[in-house]
Amino acid sequence: MSDVIRLLPDSVANQIAAGEVVQRPASAVKELLENAVDAGSTEIQLVVKDAGKTLIQIIDNGKGMSETDARLSFERHATSKIRETQDLFSIRTMGFRGEALASIASVAQVELRTKQEGEELGTEIRIEGSDVKSQKPCQCSKGTSVAVKNLFFNVPARRQFLKSDNVELKHITEEFFRIALVHPNIKFSFYHNEKCLHNLESESFKERIIALFGDVYKKRLVPIEQSVSHVKIFGFICKPEFAMKTKGEQYFFVNNRFIRHPYLNHAVSQAFDELIAEKSYPSYVICFEMDPKNIDINIHPTKTEIKFLDEKLMYGVLLAAVKKSIGAYNLAPSLDFLTNPKYQPDILPQNYTPKTPTIRVNPSYNPFEKTNFSENRKQQLNQQAYLESFELLQKPIESCIQKEIEHTTISGEDFAVEDDNAYLDSFQFSKKYIVVDTCSGLLIVCQQRAHERVLFEKFQKQIANRQTVSQQKLFPQSLDFSATNAEILNEILPNLKDLGWDIENLGHHSFSVNAAPTEVKESEVQSVLESILENFKSGIMLNRNDKQTNLAVSMASGMALKSGVTLEKTEQKQLLTQLFSCQVPQLSPKGKPVFTLLSEDEIHTRLN
Ligand code: ADP
Ligand code: MG
Repeated sequence: MSDVIRLLPDSVANQIAAGEVVQRPASAVKELLENAVDAGSTEIQLVVKDAGKTLIQIIDNGKGMSETDARLSFERHATSKIRETQDLFSIRTMGFRGEALASIASVAQVELRTKQEGEELGTEIRIEGSDVKSQKPCQCSKGTSVAVKNLFFNVPARRQFLKSDNVELKHITEEFFRIALVHPNIKFSFYHNEKCLHNLESESFKERIIALFGDVYKKRLVPIEQSVSHVKIFGFICKPEFAMKTKGEQYFFVNNRFIRHPYLNHAVSQAFDELIAEKSYPSYVICFEMDPKNIDINIHPTKTEIKFLDEKLMYGVLLAAVKKSIGAYNLAPSLDFLTNPKYQPDILPQNYTPKTPTIRVNPSYNPFEKTNFSENRKQQLNQQAYLESFELLQKPIESCIQKEIEHTTISGEDFAVEDDNAYLDSFQFSKKYIVVDTCSGLLIVCQQRAHERVLFEKFQKQIANRQTVSQQKLFPQSLDFSATNAEILNEILPNLKDLGWDIENLGHHSFSVNAAPTEVKESEVQSVLESILENFKSGIMLNRNDKQTNLAVSMASGMALKSGVTLEKTEQKQLLTQLFSCQVPQLSPKGKPVFTLLSEDEIHTRLN
């Protein structure tokens, strides 16, 4: 038999590659926009005709190409962006495979014009289905223009499979969004059939999101920001009340590259859990900045899927970041006193400029301990929105306004144990909830979740600062645990020690508890420990990977006062004070809402 294997001609190889790279007009738009961004352009124009079927043209003012580079750029695997394997681990550019221009030119008629800074003349190249038709010097401005005409003119089967103009234009718009969103400093314009669809100035990230999604987003966006050693997360999430019935605006970017990541999407949904209705989806634009060596972008030819070296860690960090933002901004709109009709600024004297009230609360203040509050004042923190709201919550409206007029600030001392009948008028409902009459409605706080939040933040601080923890020595109690619980207990013994426990393994499944945190009653040591272990186990099941956090959540849940416990007025007040000194008072450590606000309007509506 004769030999049958043959090397494919370049044009065929390119067409095969094009099958992966260029599936539809939108894919060409993506590649060309990316090239323009990589070229350092500050202004990029996208001109499309008939949803890209007739023309896709991208004009940039970037660095342009030399005559030789212009010709080479159409060769397969021709790229200026990487030189050796090692470079694959430090990619900062959008492209790097050197396949796009070659693939596009194999399935369309392409005209390239390009000129570098300082050159008199540029280069013009015309290619049809990989065939160079002409190459000559030309007059053009600095930068590059690539016109892609009659896409798939030589692959009728593919042209036939293109969808309606509407659908193809939607895909193009989507690609345009994915690039324009995260390059707000670049001016973009987008024309379709001579109609301008978008004209974007150089602007801030937030302005760019609003420019693309519409003005209504002004009120919806809440920033998110979180930095840990190897990744910086920033961006915006939409408030839960604007969750959508379809998975609309969900954008992740890694080093400015749009990615899909169901696992990370799950982290966001998880953070929104219970705050949005079933079958609704949160909107977000979230960016990750990280060293490219910690990611592998190369696992998918069109590069919207990527792999992180430590996905679980990313999940945890993202979940915490979103929760923090939800906490810091979100459940609060109902606590927005300026919208309370009762609290109209026109009651204030003329020419009076209201001053933002500030409040300082000692975060490590433990009302169950009779300490001298003033001593701790040095450490008092300046908390923002919530506490400001809380300050207003504390008093009847007249005194809210009075306080404002006096320009005084209120400090944590004002809530101290001693002055237990000041401001706050609360009562307990169903031995589960603390109800407070506030300026903006009835505040209903779940006592158990509130206490879980308070303890959780306290433990987290203790872990982070390695603080010495107040401890009570016990008459050593000898306790037995089940085999699994004993195993877990052994594993977390050193961590428990940092949090005020002193437990010794007596061998087999027996332990001696010699000391416990002050909050734990001596008679409840065993039940509290069992509860901590159960919570820790379910934390592992729920993928609460970070051991320290899992322990802090478990301890908080195990030790929190439970529903069904009667609370004196002073205790109610102490708990509220501590809760509103927390960073995220709205959510329990397990992500459940801690309180709700029933406005007068709502009550009024119900009674109608
Ligand atoms: P890649 O972007 O993966 O390198 P492409 O086929 O998209 O591969 O482009 C090949 C090369 O052509 C790029 O590496 C770049 O050097 C050059 N190039 C393409 N488009 C432009 C542009 N708009 N401005 C300047 N250079 C460009
Ligand atoms: Mg490219």
